[in-house]
Parts: sequence; C-alpha cells; structure tokens
Amino acid sequence: MKIFISADLEGVNGVVAPEDVEEVGGGYQQARVFMTEEVNAVVSGAFAGGATEVIVCDSHNVSANIKVEQLDDRAQLVRGDTRANSMVHGLDESFDGLILLGYHAKFGTQNAILDHTFSPSMIRDLRVNGMSVGELGFNALFAAEKEVPLIMATGDQALEKEAKDFYQDVETVVVKYAEGRFCARCLPRIKTQDLLVEAAEKAVRQAKEKKPVAVPSSPEMEITFQQVNLADGAMRVPGIRRGDAMTVAVAAANMEELMAVRQAVFNSAAGFYNPLF
Ligand SMILES: [Zn+2]
Repeated sequence: MKIFISADLEGVNGVVAPEDVEEVGGGYQQARVFMTEEVNAVVSGAFAGGATEVIVCDSHNVSANIKVEQLDDRAQLVRGDTRANSMVHGLDESFDGLILLGYHAKFGTQNAILDHTFSPSMIRDLRVNGMSVGELGFNALFAAEKEVPLIMATGDQALEKEAKDFYQDVETVVVKYAEGRFCARCLPRIKTQDLLVEAAEKAVRQAKEKKPVAVPSSPEMEITFQQVNLADGAMRVPGIRRGDAMTVAVAAANMEELMAVRQAVFNSAAGFYNPLF
C-alpha cells in the first residue's frame, strides 16, 4: 500500500508567525525540527497501518524544509522546488491515500494560523467550478482525479473545518487552536506526536474504504487577486479571460492541466507585482 504525504509548514504545531515560516525568520530553524518530528510521527503511523511505501513531498516555499538527516529512513523524500506538480509532485495513480500534513486554512479565514491560498500577497480567492478552495481543496482535487482519496489532514482547528467541509470522511488531527492569525494555543509536542501516529495508523488502515471526491471533468478556475495589477499580469497567459478588475478565469481539460495553468498564471501575475504600492 502506497501513501503520499504532502507536508507544509504553517499548520505544524509550534508554528504561529511569519518569522517561523520564512527562511530568514528567527523561528524558522526550530520550525523545521517540529515539521520533521510531525512527518516522522505520520510516517511511523502509516507503516503501522499497513503502508509498504511512503513518499513525503516537502511542500513549503522552496521545499527544502524537512531535516533530511532526521527523517525516518523508511520514507522517500521529494525535495526542491522546480517541479511540475507543486505540493503534490510525484503523486500518481499508484497511490492508495493522500495525507496533507501541516496544512493551513485558505485566505480570509478567521482565527486561522497564517491563512493564505498559495500566496498571501497575491491571491484573495481561488475557485474551481465555482467552489472556493484553499491549498487543501486544490491538491485533494488533483489527487481525486487520479483516484487517490484524501485520507488525513493536520493543522489548526480552522484547517480541520476546511478539511471536513471538503470531505467529511477525512481523518484529522488538530495540533493547535488558532486565536487570531498569528497566535495559537499549542498542544504539548509529545501529545501531538501520539495523536499523529494514532490517526495515521487508522487513516491508512481504512484507506481502501475511502472514496475520492467527485472531480469536475473540465474544470474552470477563477482567481481573485489582491491587486488589479496582478490580474493585468495574469492576462498575458493565452486563453485567460478577464472577469472584474481583480478576477480572471481560465478553463482546462483536467486537474493535471489546471495545475500547470495555475502556476503559469501565478508566475505571470507575479511579474506585475509591486511590493511598494
Ligand atoms: Zn507553506
């Protein structure tokens, strides 16, 4: 049984502020250790639940956060950021379950640690066929198209709600309770690891019974940006249409293609970004 873990950083226990997730921040090196501990807990739970192969995809920022020397040596690691499929690179039809670890709520969620949708400075809302999705929803749809169900998600209580709203049958672990955007009541680290091992074991044991959510056959993506300028930049992508001043829309043949289109749109928009105004 093959399990794919996509690991982000904002939803890891002990992580609460931008300083914890930016490479130059004072809390970043410690956050890497916390992230690796949580990944190891989920890897060991996954093997206890019957996994025979586990791939961990380091998915935060430049995707070189996990402490390689401390990673459970039964797991393989996808590391480095120039890759086709972003936070789920390497996920294909051969997997039996997707685990999203250390994830965070989408942009605009109240009481959610470091809420954002791919880029807090650029993206206000992203919709697939009219449904507002965060990183959890987008990546879960990508996996569902390959018949891989989302079996578990971890983060704060806002991420748990987003996960359950998306797919009721998902196993979740709340590692911290957000009391604002940059403040959370964090569980004891050891307790967190126990919860993660337990939940991963259960999720993997039941993976075969989980169903992937329905995927739109020809998905259309709408993006509302944070600035008009970003929508102007996005318009350089062929086939894209303008909605209102800050919104663009683009259609794709499937989620795999939409994954590529999304990244092209973001890059094109970013070329017009001006941090001063
Ligand atoms: Zn992240």
